[in-house]
Amino acid sequence: MTTAVAPKVQVPDITSQILHAMRAMGASPIPRNYHLFYEAYVGTNPDLTRELALLGNRATQAELDELSATFLGSAQGQVVEKAHVELLGQLDALLKLLQQEQSSLVTYNRLLGETANRISSKSNASSDLLRNAIVLLTKATGETIASGERTVEGVAQKSHEMEQVRRELDEYKRIANTDSLTRLSNRRAFDEKLSSLYDDPMRLPLTALVLADIDNFKKINDTWGHPVGDKVLASVASVIRSNVRKDIFIARTGGEEFALIIEGNTPDEVMAMCERVRRALETRPFRNSRTGIDYGPITLSLGYATGSQAEDPGDLYAKSDTALYAAKNAGRNRSVLYEDGMRKDYAGKGWLIYKK
Ligand code: GH3
Ligand code: MG
Ligand code: MG
Repeated sequence: MTTAVAPKVQVPDITSQILHAMRAMGASPIPRNYHLFYEAYVGTNPDLTRELALLGNRATQAELDELSATFLGSAQGQVVEKAHVELLGQLDALLKLLQQEQSSLVTYNRLLGETANRISSKSNASSDLLRNAIVLLTKATGETIASGERTVEGVAQKSHEMEQVRRELDEYKRIANTDSLTRLSNRRAFDEKLSSLYDDPMRLPLTALVLADIDNFKKINDTWGHPVGDKVLASVASVIRSNVRKDIFIARTGGEEFALIIEGNTPDEVMAMCERVRRALETRPFRNSRTGIDYGPITLSLGYATGSQAEDPGDLYAKSDTALYAAKNAGRNRSVLYEDGMRKDYAGKGWLIYKK
């Protein structure tokens, strides 16, 4: 019986060494940090390698970002993130194909080569990591084809290695789309989700965008301090999450503002959902168990519009926002559905909501 030794795929080695270095320095595993550490690790710029080492094991994100801006430039991070998404797709395809016929592997080998060329043609130093990863994958699949030793174990081992890389990249993507304070989706993920809503016009009547904003939140910060404000934000996020269905997309879109994208419900059902969240928050005690200080009550104003009330994602956001301001104007701690003709005007002291 021949024992197949699958060609060593180096990607996980590089990846895990970089991840190890990142963990050791307490850096979050987000794409831009990964990029920074990759450049420092391969030593393309000795100054960068030295400066990064000088940060020691408690580097703050601001310090890391400063190094990225100095040594890598800010636009490059986006190229890496785009390319990550591309690579993720490729890895998924590879995982599937590895379980199929050798002819598929040949096809895949060709596709990988093409992808490597596409990424190379972006000719940006920051896509080196991805280019390398793909070149290594190309080589590995090529060697597998050539060796003729592709046994079930060989494929299984490679599938396992690829799965590891895929999981790590998935994790980067998840972190890049998550708000670290509340663990909800962040603005970036929200923008992506919002922009896809108008792809299927049939679903628009049962699609709603709810914008929710904590009432008088500034007073909480001013009275009790920013750390208490942060705790309140995290608690509000968890009240929202635990009072709506699991499939509802929830993001923290800015300071003390949240957005929910609801698909498959009538405007009345959305109103009931908003009211459930609003009441749950209103009645939740916010008391410091150690000092007994009562921070509450904390309330939320909510405004929403349905997909069919708006022409495009930007318009939907504007109309939901107008409804939110109508809720604020009407005295806060309430939910308002956008109505035709409502508009928002800035009038010296604040926003005025007009109805037709
Ligand atoms: P309104 O009812 O009209 O919404 O009043 P408000 O006080 O909630 O609104 P305003 O926009 O005046 O204040 C929002 C405050 O949120 C100001 C800012 O200091 C605070 N904030 C924004 N982001 C954060 C954050 O991440 N943590 C904390 N603790 N506060 C934040
Ligand atoms: Mg507010
Ligand atoms: Mg606000």
